[in-house]
Formats: sequence, C-alpha cells, structure tokens
Amino acid sequence: MKIPPPPNGEGRPPEEQENRKRQLRFIVSYLVVGLLGMWIFQQFILSPLLVRQIEIPYSEFKSKLNAGEILDVTLDEGRIVGTMTDPDTSARDAPALPFTTVAVPEGDPTLIELLDANGVTYSVSPPASPVGGFLLAYALPLLLIGGVWYFGYRQMRGLRGAGGMMGVGKSKATEVKPETIGITFDDVGGADEAIAELTEIIQFLKTPERFSRLGGRIPKGVLLVGPPGTGKTLLAKATAGEAHVPFFETSGSEFVEMFVGVGAARVRDLFEQARKVAPAIVFIDEIDAIGQSRGGSVRIGGNDEREQTLNQLLAEIDGFQSTADKPVIIMAATNRPEILDPALLRAGRFDRQITVSAPDLIGRLQILRIHTAKVTLAPEFDLQRAARITPGFTGADLANVVNEAALLAARRSAEAVTMADFEAAIERVVAGLEQRSRVMNERERTAVAYHECGHALVAALVPHADPVAKVSIVPRGRSALGYTMQMPTEDRYLLTQPELEDRIAVMLGGRAAEYTVFGQISTGAADDIRQVTQLARRMVTEFGMSGKLGLVRYSSQQYQFLEAGDAPASASPETLRLIDEEVQSIIEAQYDRARALLTAHRAALESLAQQLLQTETLDGAAVQRALAETAGS
Ligand code: ADP
Ligand code: ZN
Ligand code: MG
Repeated sequence: MKIPPPPNGEGRPPEEQENRKRQLRFIVSYLVVGLLGMWIFQQFILSPLLVRQIEIPYSEFKSKLNAGEILDVTLDEGRIVGTMTDPDTSARDAPALPFTTVAVPEGDPTLIELLDANGVTYSVSPPASPVGGFLLAYALPLLLIGGVWYFGYRQMRGLRGAGGMMGVGKSKATEVKPETIGITFDDVGGADEAIAELTEIIQFLKTPERFSRLGGRIPKGVLLVGPPGTGKTLLAKATAGEAHVPFFETSGSEFVEMFVGVGAARVRDLFEQARKVAPAIVFIDEIDAIGQSRGGSVRIGGNDEREQTLNQLLAEIDGFQSTADKPVIIMAATNRPEILDPALLRAGRFDRQITVSAPDLIGRLQILRIHTAKVTLAPEFDLQRAARITPGFTGADLANVVNEAALLAARRSAEAVTMADFEAAIERVVAGLEQRSRVMNERERTAVAYHECGHALVAALVPHADPVAKVSIVPRGRSALGYTMQMPTEDRYLLTQPELEDRIAVMLGGRAAEYTVFGQISTGAADDIRQVTQLARRMVTEFGMSGKLGLVRYSSQQYQFLEAGDAPASASPETLRLIDEEVQSIIEAQYDRARALLTAHRAALESLAQQLLQTETLDGAAVQRALAETAGS
C-alpha cells in the first residue's frame, strides 16, 4: 500500500451536522409539547364532559326494564342511554346509575309499550349533528396547537432584534476581548501576505479618515479562503487580538434555523450590536453555511430560511447606517468559496479576498518555530530539515505533528524531543498508529513485504519519483498492512505528464511485485488501484493529457480546496466510453512498465524483501544498496 497524502485537517465542516441536530431537537420538543397538550386536553377538558356510563347488553336492559329497575331513558339513534337503580344497593334512594346499551338494529316495536307499562320516563334525542362531535374531538385541539405554532412563528418573524420569544432572534455572536484571546499575528506563521492585508484593514478601522481623505472607499468585507487547517480561524483570532476594536465572532451555522426568519433576525441583531460600538469587526467563520448559492440544491425546511438569512446579510453589508467614520467591517472564512452566492462576492461586498494556502518551506519553518517554542527540543533538532520533510502539510498538520512528537518523547521518558520523534510523529499522522499486535501469518507477511518492496524499487528506478524514505511492514491504522513512504525533496506546484506517469507506475509497483513473484494477486492493492484510477482519470478529464480526448474538461468536479470523489463527467456516452478506455490504457501502460522494471531487477527485489521480512522496516538507503549490490547479476 502507498501512504495517503497528509490528512486535510478537518474534512467536512461540522455545521451541517449541527443544523441537523438543532432541527431534530426542535421537532422532538415540538412533538412532546404537542402530545402533552393533547393529552391534557383530553384528560381534563373532554372527559369530564362525557359522563362515565356502564355498557349493558340489550337483553339485560330488557330484563331490568321488566324488573322495574330502569328509571328513565333517552332513545338515541341506535343507542339507548338512561339511568337505572344500582343493582348492588337495593336501597330505594340509592343514586341512579347511568347506563348505555346498543339498540336492536331494526328497532324494537314492543319497547315503547314496555316503557309505558313500567312507567319509565322516556324521551327521544334529536339526531346528533356529526359536526359537533368532530369539532370537539379533533378540530379544537388542532386549532389550539396551530394557534400556539402561529403565535411562535409570528413572534420570530416579527422580531426586530429585540430578543422576542425565548430570545431566538438574538445573535449568538460573542464580543471577544483581545485580552482573553491572547493571540497575535506573531502566532501565525507562513501567512505574511494575509497578515499584511489584515493589518491594513485594521488601519482602515482605526483611522478611516486617512483613507477616505482622497475619496477612497473603505472595504466592507474580507473573505479568507483556503483549505482546512491553514489557519483561517487563527488569523481571525489574531486580528481580534491586534485590532483593539470590538470584535464579534460567530459561525455561519449559528444562523441556520428551522424557522424562516430567525437567521435573518440574528444577522440583524449582530450588526445592530456591532454598529452600536463601531468601529468594529464582525467575523463569521464557515460562512458557506449561509452563503450558499441560492436556488441551488433543494433542502428540506432550510432553503427559504437560508435565502432570507443571506438576503439579510447582503442588506447589512450594504447597510445605509454604516458611516465612513464608524465602519463595521465584516470578515468571513470558508474553504468552499466555489459554492458561495455570487452576490456575496461581487465588488462592494467582500472586496478583499485573502487566499490562505498550505505553507511553503519558509512558512513551515515559521510555523514549526511557533509550535515548538513551548516544546523542549534536543540540541541537534534540525528545524530546517523538519520543514523540508513536511511538504504539503498545513499549519494544523504541523501543530499536530509537533504535539505527537512531544508525546512520543514523553513516552520514552526522554529529556527532549529528537528528530527521530519528529519523524515517527509524521508517520503516525500520515499513516495512522502502528498496530504491532495485529499478527499476520508468514504467508501474508511475505506477500506484504514483496508488495511494499515493489513500490520502493519502482520508485527508485523511475526517473521522476520522490525518493523512498521508509519501507515498513508494520501494520498501521485501520487498513494499511505495510507502507512505503516517499519524501518529496521540494514543494511542487506543477507536475509534468512524465512525473504523473511515474507516480502511477510506483503505485502499481506493489501489485506488479506480487504478480511477478507469486504469479497470483491479492486484495492488497485495492487502495493503490483507487488512487491510480483517480489520478489517471484526472489526467484525462482535467489535465488534457490524452491525445484522443484533447484539451477538453470533462470533469464537473467543483471543489477547489476539498478533495471530492470522482465527479460524474458531463459528456456523451461515446465520450464517456472513450474516457474509460483512455484511463485504462494509461494505467495498463504503467503497470506493464512496473512489471518490466521489477522483472529486470528481480534479484534486488528478492534481497530487499528478505531484509524487510527480517527487520520489518528499511530506510531509503537500503533500497539503493540492494539495487547497487545486485546491479551486476
Ligand atoms: P482553518 O480555520 O483554516 O481550518 P485553523 O485556524 O482552525 O484552520 O487552524 C487550526 C490550528 O492549526 C490552529 O489553531 C493552529 O494551532 C494551527 N495552525 C494552522 N495554521 C497555522 C499557521 N499559519 N501558523 C501557526 N499555526 C497554525
Ligand atoms: Zn500498495
Ligand atoms: Mg476554521
């Protein structure tokens, strides 16, 4: 197996779940209250209206009539209701017992005679209007509950930031004080451009007249965009710590509610608060929760609400009340700028967009300095090298690695964190925990060893692959039975076609080795195959690297910063088939190449695999040595 690229920090933002939870909580409490109300209504209002009666068979009624125990009756349609003497007490003045019985379907012709004969008072009730009963049993409670609902709804809609019923329309944003934050721009590494921009924004706030003197307009909004874990939230916190103006902090998910209008009320309230103390900054983290393109995907319950909230936000940004000498600047962060509503991004709203990307070498060095400041490092710890071996890591990844390294050193009861701890921590973050307890049988271990050596050897043999840093058959994480770790030597922003092809060959080296050595293949290459397919497909549909398909983009993949799965291509069925064929042919060519390389260096493969089975891990030098030693044979 090949190790996956460094984890992407947080993955999907949690606000969606948060919303769902909130809605669920609301529905459950609504149901509970509703049912309780219904029950109370039935128990205490409806029941006392209906007198409890004993149901007796018609025959018993007849015999009681003959015995003179029936006192009076009312003849209803199909039913006879009346009172009789209590059969348990024979006393004459015992209280009369109400009873009811079902009348004979065709009517009893002798009944009236019998009643007359026994001197029973009888009356006939007029046919009951069916509407009355229905009203009592269903319409009334429904009306009651509906009324409560409507009342709440009105309250929330009509809110003018004043709180209203249970304060739902109140913004949950909190004003953060710089003292309590204690984060400044010195705590953010590798984001010099972003910091420069934000410093300027702070200047705008403090001395707006300086900028508006020449007729310039102060920007209204700043949008921080970038992949997860690159420090957007951190930058916002640092801005709060540096600005020394009131800073309101909230998250997009705070505004997404079940009731239409609540989010909008909260936006209104937030800006009202901010304007009172202007100049001020309002920060909305993960703004994509409200800023999503309108009319996009249909969401149950939330769509109308989302639109209103967004509209309110737009209105507030444009706000008439925000005067030049008392500006309110809105700051927001997102890792999905592509789904934001265009209206939000148009000029005059989020005028400034600051891209926060994964740090380069110098940036990583700065970030590592910041995060190792509180860690005791061994004297020989080489921060430069640490930064060099972590290309593609975000600030959050680096913070995580430093922390893991410190924990590993503490577990060894060491005095200081060494480079070895740091490297082990990288492996741990990238590949997951070692699972030495997972026992593989000898046959499987051998298969894994050859598989990994296949990756390592192909990596060493193709011209453009990153050098191998480590080969291991210690199982890690949930699925990796072994892994080959390659260390890029520099940050790469462009990859050429030969480099991509080499990458594919390396990823297929594992499967190729299994086939070359054992003549049979296993499930061990599943993850390699997944990655290879993804890469080859992108070469064809996104990078225009297939001669047959040309320079056309066939992928509808839309995420800029998040890894998305294979997006369905928009193309005719014939083109789709052609894409599949091209993907397959790229992969097949590289598989053949990997197999040819391994067949040619079979001796090195054998020697390397045997070493690996003995020692469980090998470094890059061992791979080179094995190749050099067997070069002659
Ligand atoms: P984002 O909001 O972009 O997803 P965060 O700001 O929440 O990322 O970053 C998470 C953590 O990662 C921060 O608390 C900090 O410890 C670390 N971090 C991220 N970027 C940087 C950076 N540029 N400099 C220093 N630390 C960083
Ligand atoms: Zn593999
Ligand atoms: Mg964040």
